Amino acid sequence: MKSFVSKLCGKIMPLSLKEYREHGGFLGLEKALFYMSPQEVIDEIKESRLRGRGGASFPTGVKWQLVAAEGDEEKYVVCNADEGEPGTFKDKALLEGCPFQVIEGLMISAYAVGAYKGYIYIRGEYPNSIDLFKKAINILKKEGYLGENILGQNFSFDIEVRSGAGAYVCGEETALIESIEGNSGSSRFKPPYPPNCGLWGKPTLVNNVETLANIPLIISQGAEEFLKLGTKGSKGTKLISVSGNVVNKGVFEVEFGISLREIIYDICGGLEGNKKLKFIQVGGSSGACLPELLLDLELDFDEFKKHNIGIGSGAILVVDDSCCILDFMRVTTEFFKHESCGKCTTCREGNRHIIKAIDRMIYGSGTERDMQIIKDIATIMRDSSLCGLGQAAPIPVLSLLKHFKDEFQEHINGYCSTGVCNFKGEGK
Ligand code: NAD
Repeated sequence: MKSFVSKLCGKIMPLSLKEYREHGGFLGLEKALFYMSPQEVIDEIKESRLRGRGGASFPTGVKWQLVAAEGDEEKYVVCNADEGEPGTFKDKALLEGCPFQVIEGLMISAYAVGAYKGYIYIRGEYPNSIDLFKKAINILKKEGYLGENILGQNFSFDIEVRSGAGAYVCGEETALIESIEGNSGSSRFKPPYPPNCGLWGKPTLVNNVETLANIPLIISQGAEEFLKLGTKGSKGTKLISVSGNVVNKGVFEVEFGISLREIIYDICGGLEGNKKLKFIQVGGSSGACLPELLLDLELDFDEFKKHNIGIGSGAILVVDDSCCILDFMRVTTEFFKHESCGKCTTCREGNRHIIKAIDRMIYGSGTERDMQIIKDIATIMRDSSLCGLGQAAPIPVLSLLKHFKDEFQEHINGYCSTGVCNFKGEGK
């Protein structure tokens, strides 16, 4: 394990500005405001090769540059704290462990791109985080860290907390923007991307909590220090949320380059009851399900890409061999069916039809054609849905079809070796 971005979580009182400052808090902001131009801040972030920690791993400095390049018009910065991916709870650790660090990151981003107003969009299911942030912002206003001419410099900035009402799609940046504007959360077509046209049509920088929490450390210590961590293509550390059939579940900070096997067996203590591993799902419910033979894969954006998979939000679900693949797939797809905003046909209808085909298999009337239907619909959804929700919902489906074809065949033959499905292994 490595302690970098989360090093103050649990070490200081979350709302003690004094303790945060004693541990190097606001040194990044002070360095930026007193000694660096906005472009120098962006250059430092580019040099660090920090990539977004929300899921898509887009280069952070490049995104900042796009917003900065929009000139002098009104701009916004947004912290995406709507971590709704099932099995993902790593941002909560930062939000509640060190709120000032996240806010400092947002302030530095605002200074760099030329924004005077920021929003923190926190999921409604995190009432403690919402409460903490409101209190933290009030403290910072009283102490002169927010408001007009911060620290006596020519930089004014204010933050508002907004919260979601439980819709998964509101974590998607354009649906989140709609929600902040007061509309119901449904995704916009991209392009235009928020860096060009976001909140109220203005250039908007949206960054994930963990991405922003890295910023004060990169600026205060310099990109060079950050570059010492991780692999050639994936610099720094990653917070992972591990759940499922492992002994130690929770949030862990690891350096890029660690293998999935090391995470599961060394950090998480292996499977509960020494059961056999069936698969792990990386990146939350919208992530790929990987069989044991891929356990030596290193946590690295490029290594994962070679296998056509993503690290996503860093959620890792460990599943033992008592799980029925079709039952699992049904639960996952039901979630996406429920959360689809309904705007695009492929996502709205696709999940529904996949569930119908799964049900035929689970209840004993499935055929080879159902397997093909699932594959075809999942492929169309992946390739043509409007936003990340519809594009990612079929990823677990396609990966399970790829790695566990035999188990689908088993169900077509009227048999469920785990005994989970209702024909209980009686055969057709
Ligand atoms: P995306 O690839 O569309 O965009 C990633 C980021 O880069 C966005 O901010 C986007 O605006 C920016 N971007 C990309 N191309 C650009 C361009 N040409 N010009 C300007 N900006 C550009 O991905 P996404 O839909 O934002 O995110 C998908 C990811 O979200 C998935 O990997 C999924 O794992 C993850 N996710 C995370 C959670 C969570 O709780 N953390 C929940 C759901 C999904």
